Amino acid sequence: MRVHVRRLLPLLALALGACAVSMSPVTGRKRAYAYSWEQEVRLGRAVDRQITAQYGTYDDDALQDYVRRVGNDVLAVSHLRRDDALPEYRTAKFVFRVLDTEAVNAFALPGGYVYVTRGMLAHLENEAQLAVVLGHEIAHVAARHGSQNALEGGLMTAALLGAGLLGEELAGAGDEIGDVGAVAAQLMLFRYSRDDERESDRLGVEYAAMAGYRAAEGAAFFSGLERLQARAGRIPGFLSTHPDPGRRGETVAQMAADWVALGFDGERVEREAYLARIDGITLGQDPRQGYEMAGWFYHPAGGFRFPVPADWTVDRQGRQVVLRPRAGDGVRVELAARSRHPTADVAARVFVHENGLAGASSYRTNMNGFPGARVDGAMDSGGSSYQVTGYWLEHGGHVVRFAGISHSAYNAELQYGIGEMTRGFRAVSDPGLLDVAPVRLVVMTTERAQRFADVVDPRFIPAGMDLEALAILNGVSVDAVIPAGTVLKLPG
Ligand SMILES: [Zn+2]
Repeated sequence: MRVHVRRLLPLLALALGACAVSMSPVTGRKRAYAYSWEQEVRLGRAVDRQITAQYGTYDDDALQDYVRRVGNDVLAVSHLRRDDALPEYRTAKFVFRVLDTEAVNAFALPGGYVYVTRGMLAHLENEAQLAVVLGHEIAHVAARHGSQNALEGGLMTAALLGAGLLGEELAGAGDEIGDVGAVAAQLMLFRYSRDDERESDRLGVEYAAMAGYRAAEGAAFFSGLERLQARAGRIPGFLSTHPDPGRRGETVAQMAADWVALGFDGERVEREAYLARIDGITLGQDPRQGYEMAGWFYHPAGGFRFPVPADWTVDRQGRQVVLRPRAGDGVRVELAARSRHPTADVAARVFVHENGLAGASSYRTNMNGFPGARVDGAMDSGGSSYQVTGYWLEHGGHVVRFAGISHSAYNAELQYGIGEMTRGFRAVSDPGLLDVAPVRLVVMTTERAQRFADVVDPRFIPAGMDLEALAILNGVSVDAVIPAGTVLKLPG
């Protein structure tokens, strides 16, 4: 919930006064950072808990191991591991994770946390491209861009401080999926400066080349991003945080050529091995984390459904579910399918405490036989006043939470929306509604020449994707004739 932000402000001011001077791992020269390396590691660890709670790690150990292996290969040749690096950098342990979301994204947190989404993995063609992407993210960590940005008072400050401040609470409460959205979402959409991006591109290519990869493959990937960029409104992520992919393609190609000229003519591409690894991964939205059908939102993992109010929309990213009125952005309701708290009552009290909702009224309720709790409160932030209404309902041994916030002027809409959802809350036991399987990415070879549009079976196009999105995934156009014997990544 955004309501956390208010509590960050005093600390924000405090932290801006402090800074740490130490040796840059990349240049070897001393410079100022907002945080010591040790603080960066601690902040990264705290935010990592939120990222994994919100998006979930992709449930495939072999794939996680694979990405970790490639990441560590690239890390091994980075500035952090060179002989002249400070011991604290050389011994820094990195965490590489594949996140369970269809968003096309890769990002890093200070201190050595690197993420790539399954949506991104689906778009890559080979291991060399993965190495360049991971190299780019490792470079953000090595150059300590987040810490530099925070020194200048950038967005990273607020986001990281959120994590620092909330870190202890999160150790307990952070498992409440969806309760930690603001900080994690800010970080996932965090923008570095163009100079930082250029430096990371340069270093990413250097690291991939030194690790023996054909870094020019990265250029092809960045060029392909251009088409995604054109639809960035629909597919946020790496594109909104990493601007200008077209020129990056050219620049990366030039930088890769420079490394070849220096003798790093790495031939590692590993296309077949890579495609074998991603064969079978989830493609598009995973309906087990929720899907909409005929005016209802079904949550198979939670075993419940509730009506989506007329003129409201459901927004899903990873495990985060947000409902909003179609008109106006002054109202939002966040669903958390599973709270870690044992009862609705406890969950509601923790919520009031965490959000500083002094004076909130809180009472027990019962919705269609589901025992629960309701909280109504008001708060001020940034000169505006907000209404907060939350419902916690006990179902199947868990607590389901609906947390609503609106500008005070839109309180009537919030009450209408959250009232419809909770009054209509029902258990679901029909296996036909619960046993939904996500669409899988299938690597296959075409048997005859055919238009791409005719190769795709429309019945398998997953939620959150369309034909054009699948064409982009394969680096072809919808109308292109695909020759026989072409390897494609298709829904199946
Ligand atoms: Zn970047």
